[in-house]
Amino acid sequence: MAGHAQKEIPDVIRDVKRMKDYQKGKFLGKGGFARCYELTDATNLKVLAGKIVSKSLLVKQSQKEKMQQEISIHRALDCKYIVGFHGYFEDTDNIYILLELCRKRSLMEMHKRRKYLTEPEVRYFCRHLIYGCQYLHENRVIHRDLKLGNTLLNDAMELKISDFGLATRVDHDGERKKTLCGTPNYIAPEILAKSGHSFEVDVWSLGCIVYTLLIGRPPFETNSLKDTYKRIQKNEFCIPNNVAKPTSNFIRRLLSADPSQRPSMFKMLDDDFFRGYT
Ligand code: ADP
Repeated sequence: MAGHAQKEIPDVIRDVKRMKDYQKGKFLGKGGFARCYELTDATNLKVLAGKIVSKSLLVKQSQKEKMQQEISIHRALDCKYIVGFHGYFEDTDNIYILLELCRKRSLMEMHKRRKYLTEPEVRYFCRHLIYGCQYLHENRVIHRDLKLGNTLLNDAMELKISDFGLATRVDHDGERKKTLCGTPNYIAPEILAKSGHSFEVDVWSLGCIVYTLLIGRPPFETNSLKDTYKRIQKNEFCIPNNVAKPTSNFIRRLLSADPSQRPSMFKMLDDDFFRGYT
């Protein structure tokens, strides 16, 4: 980002308040704002992932608020299927978020390498995603940006939902969120319509993930964001004939234009799709 030079991150990072040092290790990846590195806790040699955000990038008030929202939501979560939150601190240059290390990258890299996953593989990862989302929705959190790159994998190939930068809390039953600052990857039609959205947007994104993993490309893909949004608004997608009936029916239910017609995360595992042979 021009004009906002990011300083080099030092090899030893100090949490001054807690008197703790972390040794910076392998580079893990880069996001919209963050750079991620392996960080080794000098006291117990535990290796974590450090999500490091340069304060020079948090210029607008809305960006600062988003960062605070991400930390405040993520730090309260504790579930096997959500990337563990191990604390945060800052120095003059950066904000550091300590996360459970997921060494096996994400479903994004797996999709790029493999293009198609098999149905049993998709069922396996989809179950983990659903368990994570059940926990989130029980705790009144909507993720709002579920996508392949936000589903990290640990050494045991267990899926962990990450990146709560667009997440929000539902304050009262039946509340419909009216605004979302940012551009979710698998954006639901009711977000585009600004008609009010809630938990069902995560179900929509899950439908897009299942479609992409099985069919090899996203359901509403075009050459431009504008055309993609048009297709989403018209609910225009097709499922190839070779996809098994229970599977295509499952995808169609998740990608219902009307959010109330989508199954909730709690009902989803009853679907015939999950009665396959694994
Ligand atoms: P941003 O919020 O700026 O988009 P992300 O949270 O997506 O940043 O992190 C950027 C990249 O760092 C990810 O795409 C991933 O490759 C890597 N990464 C993030 N969190 C972890 C983690 N807990 N373990 C391993 N790698 C991670």
